[in-house]
Formats: sequence, C-alpha cells, structure tokens
Amino acid sequence: MTQAPLETRITSEQLLDATRAVIAGGGSSNMRNLGVTTPLVLDRSAGCRLWDVEGNELIDVNMGYGPHLFGYADPDVLGVVAQQLRLGAITGIPHRLDHQAGELIAATVPTIEQVRFANSGTEAITSALRLARHLTGRSGVVTFEGHYHGWSETVLRKMAITSNGEDPQGAVPGAPGMIPSALSHTFQLPWNDVAALERLFTEHGTEIAAVILEPICGNAGVVQPLPGFVKQIAELTARHGALLVFDEVITGYRVALGGAQELLGVRPDLTILSKVMGGGFPVAAFGGSKEILAPLARNEAFHAGVFAGNHAAMAAVVAMVSKLSRDPSVYDTLNVLSSYLEQRLAAAFADAGRHVRITRAGSVMSIALLTGPQKTESDYDAAVPLIDFTAHRRFQILCQEAGVYFHPNPLEPWFLSTAHTPDVLDAVVDAVQKSLVRL
Ligand code: PMP
Repeated sequence: MTQAPLETRITSEQLLDATRAVIAGGGSSNMRNLGVTTPLVLDRSAGCRLWDVEGNELIDVNMGYGPHLFGYADPDVLGVVAQQLRLGAITGIPHRLDHQAGELIAATVPTIEQVRFANSGTEAITSALRLARHLTGRSGVVTFEGHYHGWSETVLRKMAITSNGEDPQGAVPGAPGMIPSALSHTFQLPWNDVAALERLFTEHGTEIAAVILEPICGNAGVVQPLPGFVKQIAELTARHGALLVFDEVITGYRVALGGAQELLGVRPDLTILSKVMGGGFPVAAFGGSKEILAPLARNEAFHAGVFAGNHAAMAAVVAMVSKLSRDPSVYDTLNVLSSYLEQRLAAAFADAGRHVRITRAGSVMSIALLTGPQKTESDYDAAVPLIDFTAHRRFQILCQEAGVYFHPNPLEPWFLSTAHTPDVLDAVVDAVQKSLVRL
C-alpha cells in the first residue's frame, strides 16, 4: 500500500515540530525561525502567493526577503535556469554564461566594470572588505546603526548600540561565539550624522580601510539617507583614502536598474549585489572598477568558492538582469503599486486610531506599530525606541490568520513584486483592517 506523503497527513504545526527534531530551531536561518509566530510550513509558492502543507493560501508581502521582483516562480527566470540545469549546473570550469552575466551587470550598475560572484551577501561582503583592507593596507571598517551586512566576524554586531562603555564608537559582537576582539577594528556610527563621521575620520582616519553602508537602509525598516548625506560620506572617504562600499544587497536592481547609486548619484568604490539580481536563486556579487578588482585579477587577493558563479546561478542572473534591462519601466510600475499600498495602509491605521511608522523606497516598504506619534522619519534613534514590538507581533499573527504573511519583526521590510496587482493590494488592506479591529 502506498502511503500519502507525510505532508498531506499532518498540520504545519506537527510538521514544524517534527522538523525541529532534525533541524536546529526548525529552519536553517535564525531569521527564519524568528519569523514563526503561527507555525507555517509551505508546500509551494507562485506569484505573490504561498500555500502551506494544509492547503491554506496566503498573500506574501515578505517575498523571501526580497529577491522575487517578478513574483515567485517567474516563468522567464525559471525557463532559463531549467534549461541550464539540463546542460549542467556546476562544473568548476569557466562557462559562456559567466561572460554574459558579467557584461549585463557592467552595463547596468554605474560603477561596476568587473565583478566576482559569490553565493550569499555575507560571502560577497566578507571578500569585498578583505579586498578593501588589502588595497588600503588598513584594518578599520566603519558601519552604521541599523545596517545589516551579513553574519561574518567583521560586521555582525549589535546594530543599535554605539557605546560599549569605554569606546563610544565601538561595535559590540552580535552573537555568542564571536572572538571578543573580532570587532576591534569595526566602528559603528549613527546613521545620518555627518558630524560623527567627520569626528571619527579626524581621530582614526589613517586606520580606516572602508565605510560600508546600505545606501538606503532597509534593515532598520526603511530609513532614507538625509539629502546629501551619502555624498558627504563619499567626500570624506575619498579625502581620507578609505574605500566607499555600498551594500546594495537589498537596493540593487530593486529601487532602480542601477540601484541606489543611480538614484543618489553617488559613486562607491565597491558594490555588493544579491537578492533581485538572482531572481530567487542563491547568488551574490561584489564589483567595482578594474583598478579596484586588480588584486583579484592577478589572483593575489583571495576569493574562492566551489559554488561561486555556478552555471545555474549565472543563468538566473542572465535571465533576471536581461529581463530588467529590456523593460526598466517595471520600476515605475512597482512605485505606483507601492505608493497605492502605502496610502491605503496609512488611511487604515489612521481610521483605527493606531500610531504607525510607514517608510518606503520604491517597492521596499516598512510598517511598524508605534507606542506614540513618530517624531522624524529619517532618524533611526528616534524611530526605533517608539516601535511597539509586542503589538506588532500580535498584529502579524492576526494578519496571518486573515491570509497575509509578513515577518513579525517590524524592522524587516515588506517587498512588493509585479504580482502584487491592485486587487491583491486591496486584499492586503482588507486583512490589515480586519486585524486592526481585532488587535
Ligand atoms: N546585506 C543586506 C543589506 C542584507 O539585507 C542582507 C540579508 N538580508 C545581507 C547583507 C546578507 O545577505 P545573506 O543573507 O545572503 O548572507
């Protein structure tokens, strides 16, 4: 007798419990495990929708943390990747797709002439920062509060703390098990505070190899840079011989074809790409001018990876970046859809008499319930202490029950896609309104 597959016989909750017995925490990322308020184990996804193992359908506005600009299972990307899978997914030998992928990126991202591919944002950032240290002969890395750059030893730190008691600019390790001195060359400053950066460069300028930032911050909710702030960072890094590193893991191919650097008109020395570039497949890249990448071209600086630039990932990059290049009007479309949702949500929260912080950069949006009225949009320090994390978590549970999934951490943004058509967005607002009544 053939047995029904395990998933068809049990609930999400039961399957998650069973998974927790064999996968620590139930999922292979802490962020994913923290994303579980009501157990949800998926069977499949398409467009902007998820189906769990019990057959329940949800609208997703988290969208896998952002890669799926055209929605899940986009046939244009899947078709190219599926064809490549039949022709070989990974061989460890240069492939014709490498050239195409590199050319497409160089043609679309203003400051990139050359890249190296990696498998995750963390990997690409680790290599880029090591390259910056090699090029400058310095060790220091400057980060900003609320900006996330993966989990490597140099940059995983408590994102919202500037002071460790002794050094007001010291960064504090973000996880147990990190070498206590791992961050001894990492500085952390408040976002949008040019005076703090000037002071740091005056005191430590000759130690600083790189300043790394999300040019539009997406990991503290969306926090835009104040007008001119990123340009001022670029001037300071250039003046002091440090490199400017844009972490465009979220913003690359998301806020514009040329990323945040195109929107802001600022030229970083190194850029990190991932998420949208791979259309849902695991791939990242770091790149810049040929001069900056020269130590890698000479195989003097070290960057490697069995799966780095594998053929399936290159196929995904080629499919995605060529699709975006063919029709960059997709960014206007997404902006119109996102603006519509933003306005409708703001009205829904106002009608419900709830304080909320809604911020947006194109199709990246963040929504956080607050304990009181918001003072300023751009100030991370002012906004975060007001967030009502408990109410937000409850709100997330209610929305999930009403058929809409987003991450329960209000600092994780919502990502819209072309699959989020106006009727879908109306359904999202409907679920939000119902949830606010029950909150
Ligand atoms: N940088 C930014 C801006 C990110 O948002 C993320 C992940 N969300 C990373 C780096 C790390 O990327 P990964 O999880 O692929 O290592």
